[in-house]
Amino acid sequence: AIIMRAVNKYYGGFHALADIDLTVRRGERIVICGPSGSGKSTLIRTINQLEPIQSGSIVVDGVELTAGGDNVAKVRQDVGMVFQNFNLFPHMTVLENCVLSPMKTRKTPRAEAEATARHYLERVKIPEQADKYPAQLSGGQQQRVAIARALCMKPRIMLFDEPTSALDPEMVKEVLDTMIDLAREGMTMLCVTHEMEFARAVADRVIFMDKGVIVEEGAPDAFFGNPQNDRLRNFLGQIA
Ligand code: ATP
Ligand code: MG
Repeated sequence: AIIMRAVNKYYGGFHALADIDLTVRRGERIVICGPSGSGKSTLIRTINQLEPIQSGSIVVDGVELTAGGDNVAKVRQDVGMVFQNFNLFPHMTVLENCVLSPMKTRKTPRAEAEATARHYLERVKIPEQADKYPAQLSGGQQQRVAIARALCMKPRIMLFDEPTSALDPEMVKEVLDTMIDLAREGMTMLCVTHEMEFARAVADRVIFMDKGVIVEEGAPDAFFGNPQNDRLRNFLGQIA
């Protein structure tokens, strides 16, 4: 579970997250949407402390992030993250991208790490791409490698930050299908996305952020069918 309490984040004098309270239970799938600059990326990046916070607390599976020690390293091992721009290592093959972290941080032997990598490349339906370099793959394939690479660490939680927004339209579906599979298998997921079909298909809750605040949240039916807040109604009108 992820428990955020009264989280505040500033970039200099700019208040990017204001008193965020959010609990994500084990196995829960949450979609976050909202206008550009509303703090969506900032929020999910605080969960593995890619962005430090100024006040409040974040506890991930019982580990308090802000408590110091090796807590941040512990949490990062259990929380996978997939970014808009794939962030693969360009000078490494797909397989090397996938075995790097398990070998380095989990001390997994190479043979085992490679077997795991091939397993997840199979799962994301690109087993034949293992020996290629990222630049030799399509955007959709690169993003599926990024998902497989994250899964190789056997994370308990997966964070996605607009994983399909840099993709050509014909590649969006293959990445969303991969995410839907993960969701159906019970992975705890927090996804920033404007793919509302995805939200309807798998989200337990959808969250709308604006100006650093969670303005509204609800199950997909209520969220889309009966939005309460004017800003959300306006937003849904724009993206429909
Ligand atoms: P988008 O939909 O465009 O990705 P977002 O909701 O993810 O937007 P964030 O990237 O979290 O928004 O940014 C929230 C606010 O914080 C924005 O106003 C942004 O300009 C500001 N911000 C983000 N990163 C930094 C930074 N490193 N330094 C200063 N300000 C930042
Ligand atoms: Mg963002």
